Amino acid sequence: MELIFASNNRHKLEEISKIIGDSYSILNLKQANCEGEIPETGETLAENALQKAHWVYDRTGKNCFADDTGLEIDALNGAPGVYTARFAGEDCTPEDNIQKTLRLLQGVTNRRACFKTVIACILDGKEYLFEGEVEGEIATEKLGVCGFGYDPIFVPKGYKESFAQMPLDLKNSMSHRGRATAKFVEFLHGLQ
Ligand code: IMP
Repeated sequence: MELIFASNNRHKLEEISKIIGDSYSILNLKQANCEGEIPETGETLAENALQKAHWVYDRTGKNCFADDTGLEIDALNGAPGVYTARFAGEDCTPEDNIQKTLRLLQGVTNRRACFKTVIACILDGKEYLFEGEVEGEIATEKLGVCGFGYDPIFVPKGYKESFAQMPLDLKNSMSHRGRATAKFVEFLHGLQ
């Protein structure tokens, strides 16, 4: 079965493809001839994930899925949450987001945080949602160079390394997206 992944993020595609494996062929937006700026204006992760998946489904009529992720930091009352991508401003870079997070948490001892992902899938016009989350802490400085986004400052519970210091398979085994994708894969296998 072919599935279009409604994202331009090559890191996400790599992570998800590794978990989904060879039983499904995952097309990126370019391969699906469906390029453009996908809107993301929902007030929850689920709304955003559905919005992205529908954007692709409405244009292609093909089975597809999208994900949306939020980082919730206890000391910031759950911020940035659904605004994680634009935390440091509308056209900010991942580095801007990291620096803003580190600045706001300077001198703060409670650094607990949680990454949450919702995957929305549209199969033959029907919607399905899958969720995953991982607890951890925000490091006091950047650690490692792998991964993307907030990976260098997120240290999952029980580990000393950040996601950016881990091989992808290890990150996938415990990450928010890894867990949501594992549920998605289980569901897909149940269809066969
Ligand atoms: P979105 O799901 O693409 O909207 O992601 C929201 C924000 O979370 C963006 O700033 C991403 O870079 C960041 N993000 C999403 N997934 C991860 C991850 O696995 N590690 C670190 N940052 C992530």
